[in-house]
Amino acid sequence: MNEVRRKVLSIYAEADAAVAAAGPRCDASGRCCRFTEYGHTLFISHFEAEILLETAPPYSQPVTRDGCPFQINGLCTARESRPLGCRIYFCDPTYTDRMVEITETAIAKLKAIANEHDTGWNYATLHHFLNAARQQGPAVSPADNMIPPDSRFSLPVVQPPTG
Ligand code: SF4
Repeated sequence: MNEVRRKVLSIYAEADAAVAAAGPRCDASGRCCRFTEYGHTLFISHFEAEILLETAPPYSQPVTRDGCPFQINGLCTARESRPLGCRIYFCDPTYTDRMVEITETAIAKLKAIANEHDTGWNYATLHHFLNAARQQGPAVSPADNMIPPDSRFSLPVVQPPTG
């Protein structure tokens, strides 16, 4: 295992532990992985994309922004390699502040790795990486590769769900 990958996995483990300690409630609805329905977008870094794509199951192209192709029958089929946003995000409103803290800490550490190893920093939507990885399907529009304004969240809650 190379050093960068080891460091990224260490950040995953730290985030998992922080989330477990916070103990957010999960109703297991699976809605958070159906992005358009839920009203948010999953952003990930190139580090997270590489780890996800190493072990994730095959998926159909093109991937849209609507949801994650790895959610099958309401369950995550890429759980071991899922990105930080998937690990940290829960819709429990009592956990929101802690979620932001955990996310900011994890993203700051990823950026430190990028700086230390001079890898550059690529942060984009999940479907951007999934489409780019296979070099198939229609070109990804530039709007799909926009960095969120604060560049902090892997899974920002752009709009809370209504109703
Ligand atoms: S990788 Fe898993 S947890 Fe993350 S969005 Fe996809 S199905 Fe959901």
